[in-house]
Amino acid sequence: MSPELFPSRRAPIFADVPDEKWNDWRWQLSHRLNSVDEFEKVFKLTDGERRALSTSGLFRVDITPYFVSLIDPDDPNDPIRKQVIPTDAEITPFTGMMEDSLAEDLHSPVPGLVHRYPDRVLMLVTTQCASYCRYCTRSRIVGDPLAQFSRAEFEMQIDYLKRTPQVRDVLLSGGDPLTLAPKILEELLARLREIPHIEIIRIGTRVPVFLPMRVTQELTDMLEKYHPLWMNIHVNHPNEISQELAEACDRLSRAGIPLGNQSVLLAGVNDCPHIMRKLVQDLVRIRVRPYYLYQCDLVEGAGHFRTPVAKGIEIIEALRGHTSGYAVPTFVVDAPGGGGKIPLAPNYLLSMSDHKIILRNYEGFITTYEEPVKYEAHDPKTCRYCQSKRMEPGQGGVSGMLDGEQMFIKPEGFDQLHNRGGGQHRLRADTAKWTPLGIGSGNKKELEG
Ligand SMILES: *Cc1c(COP(=O)(O)O)cnc(C)c1O
Repeated sequence: MSPELFPSRRAPIFADVPDEKWNDWRWQLSHRLNSVDEFEKVFKLTDGERRALSTSGLFRVDITPYFVSLIDPDDPNDPIRKQVIPTDAEITPFTGMMEDSLAEDLHSPVPGLVHRYPDRVLMLVTTQCASYCRYCTRSRIVGDPLAQFSRAEFEMQIDYLKRTPQVRDVLLSGGDPLTLAPKILEELLARLREIPHIEIIRIGTRVPVFLPMRVTQELTDMLEKYHPLWMNIHVNHPNEISQELAEACDRLSRAGIPLGNQSVLLAGVNDCPHIMRKLVQDLVRIRVRPYYLYQCDLVEGAGHFRTPVAKGIEIIEALRGHTSGYAVPTFVVDAPGGGGKIPLAPNYLLSMSDHKIILRNYEGFITTYEEPVKYEAHDPKTCRYCQSKRMEPGQGGVSGMLDGEQMFIKPEGFDQLHNRGGGQHRLRADTAKWTPLGIGSGNKKELEG
């Protein structure tokens, strides 16, 4: 690693803190900054920031001395400052704003367990974070100092997982799971590992970014007992990649934990292809694989951070081909209303005929791929993976249509609408005429005989 690239920093007010305190995560957590007076000792607040900090009912503010030290005190537009210091733009409502824009609570069979995709769940295990992002997608539940880890809800979550064998991947989030008391975190991992059908566990955390000293050898020794364990961190701007973060990631990687990164596309922070290229290249240097770039959610407090969706496409256009494929994240819009993540990318497919595909590359070079004129199609009847597929009925989607599960997906109320108030008549009596031959489990048999 090249230490000269990521210098350690300490704001002048912390200059006299002894190293053993500075490097102690408990000291960092108990010395977080949250008031006008405390911030004024680090940099001069703008009027908008002062007004926001004096507003009652504001989403929780709390910033570790370590993270606040990464802010350039002379730059009111510092990209780290914008992520954690509130401004009065945050309290301005906007069209489309929702409290729970991803409808996570609607998709939770038990409190704090979001089961939106067939084989994996999001498990919210705490409401606490090491510091609080102003654009938090879960500001509705995060940050309440009185609502911490709930054992009763944890038991309900474990109970749901035990009786839901299609779940093979559990993603721990919150809040930030790495802020849990070490004993509770270990108990949680151990209880999940007791469930045989849970193949992988993932942790979504910003602790390595806000509080890298929390990633101690003791922590990684504990985590590595629960493999296969994956981790996603959350870095938005190259200024967050400090020597301390690099070392924390190194400890995690050495414990065998594959690291990914999720960024949020934020106006005034990282809405620039050149900033993003530097960010993703610095991430792969510290062995963190950029995973997702999120379009900002339609959540209260985040309106002023939104960019046009086109900005994300422009960023991916500037990355794909221009830098290592490992450094290119998937740009996603998490669908308002609860549709889950929808990937978006520039279009590389220009045209096609029955056996030619016309493609363009990142440079604008246009090429033809010659497809086989005679293709011997894959035969599901002799493929043991096709035979043993375990697709949940109802979530096959477009892939399910390709797989012959169903021939159409209709919007809600489609049949009633097109009935046009007419009743039964002679042409509608035989419903079999709308059943496609050979599609759907009930109709396959006729063909297979
Ligand atoms: C993002 C997310 C997941 C994980 O999705 P991957 O694409 O597998 O990383 C799971 N559940 C919910 C509700 C999510 O929002």
